[in-house]
Amino acid sequence: MDFRDTAEEASFRKEVAGWIEDRLAHIPHEHPADHDAKTDNARWWQEQLADGGYLGLTWPEQYGGKGMPIAYEAILNAESARRHAPFGINGLGVILAGPTILVHGTEEQKAFYLPRILNGDDIWCQGFSEPGAGSDLAGLSTRAEETGDGWVVNGQKVWTSFAHAANRCMLLARTTPQAETGSKHEGISYLLADTDQIDIRPLVMINGDADFNEMFLSDVHVPQDRLLGQQGGGWKVALTTLGFERGSLAFVLSAEAEAALEELTSRVIDAGLADEPDIAREVGRLAADVRSLSLTTTRQMSALMQGETPGGDGSAVKLAWAQTMQAVTRLAVRSGGDAGVTEDGRRDAGWISGFLRARGNSVEGGTDEVQRSIIAERVLGLPKSR
Ligand SMILES: Cc1cc2nc3c(=O)[nH]c(=O)nc-3n(C[C@H](O)[C@H](O)[C@H](O)COP(=O)(O)OP(=O)(O)OC[C@H]3O[C@@H](n4cnc5c(N)ncnc54)[C@H](O)[C@@H]3O)c2cc1C
Repeated sequence: MDFRDTAEEASFRKEVAGWIEDRLAHIPHEHPADHDAKTDNARWWQEQLADGGYLGLTWPEQYGGKGMPIAYEAILNAESARRHAPFGINGLGVILAGPTILVHGTEEQKAFYLPRILNGDDIWCQGFSEPGAGSDLAGLSTRAEETGDGWVVNGQKVWTSFAHAANRCMLLARTTPQAETGSKHEGISYLLADTDQIDIRPLVMINGDADFNEMFLSDVHVPQDRLLGQQGGGWKVALTTLGFERGSLAFVLSAEAEAALEELTSRVIDAGLADEPDIAREVGRLAADVRSLSLTTTRQMSALMQGETPGGDGSAVKLAWAQTMQAVTRLAVRSGGDAGVTEDGRRDAGWISGFLRARGNSVEGGTDEVQRSIIAERVLGLPKSR
């Protein structure tokens, strides 16, 4: 296998790197200190990507995409992460909603929703998790009752990232009670809901960010044409979304870990700690971890480009990324000495925020324990734990 860029990929990498640097020179908040400033940056970055024609690179041209191979998307993500570009405010629309609609949508749904994701008219959130259903997602209890012209939805969602900014929601709700289907995976429907009737309340994370929310649905009307896939067949559609979450995000994750390691290394050198045996050993170990993460990601991409479905490798990448991000940010805080644990200097505030935020990395997109079970069962072939 040749891990190097082709001539076309190298030329695209150069073009995109130059474009990102050029645009980032005009970012509204260079060191966003609070949530509103970060949201401004995320919104602004989404506009830049749309304006530069860098959204939907792999989508078919008939829906406004560029029809390019997935390697180009990976290059865009890697170069963005390396330069600390914000995650666009409609990242979930581009990475999850659009690709899922491409697979399961009717022609009318594709023609309506896909261009709106690329031109910034719509911002999406993912209304899957509930207070009583996270790892065990199929145990969700939000109900959608048929009304003749659609559904009336009641229930509660939680940890819904970007819902405060979104006007559309990938909403999972039960349309047939489990008692009637006999299987918890049947009877769930995947609705493309508007958020205007949903009561959305922000949740503040330990680092002060308020990127995710609780959503309360009380008699929310969802029209008939908003069903994605079959009524009661939403689990299959949800698995497609979760597959894109693992597949596409993996390229963002390994690039993010590489960027964090690079920054950590500079910090250790600047602090005169490169000769400290403990620190040097830890940086070396992390460099090896990051390298193996990025090689596993490349291998995954190669499999995807040959038409294979991502397997348990995605769980290995997710697990390794979470642990690496936690270790990198922990060492960065430690190497800052006293300043590393007080929030006096803006220089250290970013690392402290990153350290605290990294706790969530072992929960979001599937917890460490769940990833370990998937690796045990699907990669190592061990007996099922339950
Ligand atoms: C930053 C962040 C952003 C998020 N964004 C979104 C979003 O946009 N949309 C959305 O729908 N959700 C989102 N989530 C929710 C996320 O998907 C869930 O938190 C996750 O699936 C875990 O579910 P839970 O929180 O209910 O924990 P639980 O499933 O209740 O798990 C609690 C503990 O039990 C363990 N556990 C559970 N089941 C098993 C098992 N079978 N074997 C071993 N251990 C087990 C878990 O590992 C965990 O330690 C986000 C979460 C975070 C942290």
